[in-house]
Amino acid sequence: MRAIDKVLIANRGEIALRVMRTCRQMGIATVAVYSDADADAPFVRFADEAVRIGPPPARESYLVTNAILDAARQTGAHAIHPGYGFLSENAGFAEAVADAGLVFIGPSAEVIGKLGSKQAAKRIARAAGVPTVPGYDGDDQSAATLVAEAAKIGFPVLVKASAGGGGRGMRIVRDAGGLADAIERARGEAATAFGDDTLLLERYVDRPRHIEIQILGDSHGNVVHLWERECSIQRRHQKVVEEAPSPALDPERRAAMGKAAVELGRAVGYVGAGTVEFIADQQGAFYFLEVNTRLQVEHPVTELTTGLDLVREQIRIARGERLGYDAAPPQRGWAIEVRLCAEDPDRDYLPTAGTLHAVEIPPTVRADIGVVAGSEVGIHYDSMLGKLIAHAPTRGEAAQVLRRALDETWMPGLVTNREQLSRILAHPAFLAGELDTHFLETHAGELAGRTPGLDRVRVAAVGLALHGIASRAPDDALAPPGWRNVPFADQTLAFKLGDADVPLGYRVVADGVELRLGGKTTKVTRHGLDGDRLWFVEHLGHRRSVRVARAGAKAWVLSEGTLFHFVEEPRFAEPGARTVAGGLIAPMPGKVVKVLVTTGEVVVQGAALVVLEAMKMEHTVRATGAGTVRALHVAVGDQVDADRLLAVVTG
Ligand code: ADP
Ligand code: ADP
Ligand code: MG
Repeated sequence: MRAIDKVLIANRGEIALRVMRTCRQMGIATVAVYSDADADAPFVRFADEAVRIGPPPARESYLVTNAILDAARQTGAHAIHPGYGFLSENAGFAEAVADAGLVFIGPSAEVIGKLGSKQAAKRIARAAGVPTVPGYDGDDQSAATLVAEAAKIGFPVLVKASAGGGGRGMRIVRDAGGLADAIERARGEAATAFGDDTLLLERYVDRPRHIEIQILGDSHGNVVHLWERECSIQRRHQKVVEEAPSPALDPERRAAMGKAAVELGRAVGYVGAGTVEFIADQQGAFYFLEVNTRLQVEHPVTELTTGLDLVREQIRIARGERLGYDAAPPQRGWAIEVRLCAEDPDRDYLPTAGTLHAVEIPPTVRADIGVVAGSEVGIHYDSMLGKLIAHAPTRGEAAQVLRRALDETWMPGLVTNREQLSRILAHPAFLAGELDTHFLETHAGELAGRTPGLDRVRVAAVGLALHGIASRAPDDALAPPGWRNVPFADQTLAFKLGDADVPLGYRVVADGVELRLGGKTTKVTRHGLDGDRLWFVEHLGHRRSVRVARAGAKAWVLSEGTLFHFVEEPRFAEPGARTVAGGLIAPMPGKVVKVLVTTGEVVVQGAALVVLEAMKMEHTVRATGAGTVRALHVAVGDQVDADRLLAVVTG
C-alpha cells in the first residue's frame, strides 16, 4: 500500500477543483499548478498550496512536464492527478512521474501507450472479441492501400488520425473522387497536430448514438464496469449533453456492452478509471471506438447514478487498495449533464470572452464549475466553463430540473451556450430519447436562438429602468428621484438590444411609475431591489422579478430564462470600428495566425484575408465583396479582441 497524503493536480478549471474537493474530503492535502492567466483562479485559491509553472499558453505551462515535476518536488506532493485533457493521456508524462518516484493517478505508461493510438486499441479490442467499427487499421499506410481499403468499406468513409482526440483529426469522405486528397490532407494535419501521421479508415456509421462504458480496474486484477453514459448530443464531434442511463439500451444490450468493456480492460490489465467508447447504430448494434485512459468530463452522471465518487476510487486504486466489489452498484434514477461553454451557438459556436459579473447556479443541481464572479474568461484554454448535472428518479424529471436550473443560472457578462442547452432539454425529440450524433444539426431550426417578442423585451427593459431608479432610491421611497409634482414630458432611457433600439419613456407619478415602450404603457405600483433582484408589481398585483447587473454602459438582465444584454445609447456610438465601409471585423477574440493579402492587392468576393485562431479553432475572415485591400490593421502574432477592425476592402 502506498500512502498518498498530498496530491498535485496537473490541470486547471473545474476539473482541478473537482479533484481537490475529493482530496479534501479524504484528508489529503492539495497542490495546484497555474499559469499566469490563472494566478487568481478559484482552483488556485482552493488549493492548500499553488505553484506557478509558466506563462498562459498551455505548451509553456500545463503541458510542461518538468515544470510540473519541479512543483511536486518543491511542495513534497506524493502523487499527481492529471485531470482530463492536457497531459492526462500522455504516456511520456505518466512515465516521467513514475521515474520521479511519484504516484501517477491513472493507468501505467505502458497501458496508456497501448490504448493511446486508436489503431492499436482497435486491434486489442478485436483480439478481445469486442466488435469494432468495420474499417482498416493496418500498418501499410500507402495511399494506394488506403484507397483500395476505402473502396472495400464503402462510402461515406471516415478518415481518422490514429492519435487524434477531442473530436479533431476526422474527415468524412462521401465518394471515391475526394479520397486521395482527403488522405493527403488528413496525414499532414495529423502529423502537425498529433505528431503521428498514422491514419485509420472507418465506415461512417449512419446517425449513430455515442454510448460509453465506465470501467475501473485495481492492481489486483479486478476489473468492473459502472454502466453506461450516452453522449450523443455533440457539436464538432464533441459532447455537449450526457446522461446515464442511456434511453437506447435494454438490459441485455447494457449487459453485453458492459461485458465487452470489462473484457477489453482485462485484456490490457487495466488499472485505474477509464472509458470504453462505442457507437451504436439505429438497429442497436454497437462498435468499439476508443478507450480514454482517464477521468472523463462527463463522469458525474455515473457518480450520481451509482453513488460512487470516481476520484476517490482513482485514489484508492493508486494506493494499491482493492476495489472491494466485483459488480457495479445498481443504477439509481437518472442523471443528465450539460457542458456550459463560453461560446455562441448562434454564431457557429465561436468562442467568446469577457468578465463574469456574477456566477450563481441554483442548488437544485450539482455544479462543477471553474469560474466565480469576477472571473475573466480568456482565449487561452478550452471554452468549457463547467457542468451542471441534475439527478432525479426519472429522465423526464431530471431534464425538467436541469432545464429550470439553466434558466435561472445567472452569469452576466459573457455570451454562453446556456440558452441553447435549455432549448435542447425542452425539445420533444430529446424528451422522447430520440438521439443521434447529428441531433444539433437535425433540429438546428428549432434550437436556434429567437429574437424575443416585444412583451418579453418589455419586462426586461422595465426591470432595467426600475433598477436604475431603485438603485438611486434604495428604500422604495414615496417620492423617488425623477418624481415631478407637475408631470410633463417623459424621461427617456435609450438602450440598444443587439441592433435594435429600445427607447423607453418613463415618468414617476404619485402612485408608482409609468413606463412606455413600443406604444404600450406599463403601470408599476411598487418596486424594489433585493440584492441584484429587481422586483416590481404590475396591474392586478402581479409581482415579478428580474436580475440586473451593470458595468458602465452595459447592462445584463435575466428575465424568464433569457439573458438580455442592453447597451446604453449615448456611450454606445463609438465612431470608427463597425461603421467603416468594407471593414472586416474580428468575429471572436483570438490570435492572428495568417495574413494572406497585402495592402493594395485586388481581391475577389470571398477571398481569404486573415486567419484567426482561438483555442483549437481556426477562423478565416473573408472579403465580403470584391475590391482592393485599402488597409491592414493586424500582423501575424497579434492578439485581437472581438470586433477589432482587421482590414478594409473597398471596391
Ligand atoms: P471527453 O470524451 O471526456 O469529452 P475529449 O476527448 O472530448 O473527452 O476531451 C476532453 C475535453 O476537455 C476536450 O475538449 C479538451 O479540450 C477539454 N479540456 C481539457 N482540459 C480542460 C480543462 N482543464 N477545462 C475544460 N476543458 C478541458
Ligand atoms: P475522439 O478521440 O476525437 O473522441 P472518437 O473516435 O471517440 O474520437 O469519435 C468522436 C465522435 O466522432 C464520436 O462520438 C462520433 O460522434 C463520431 N464518430 C467517430 N467514429 C465514427 C464513425 N465511424 N461513424 C460515425 N461517427 C463517428
Ligand atoms: Mg472519443
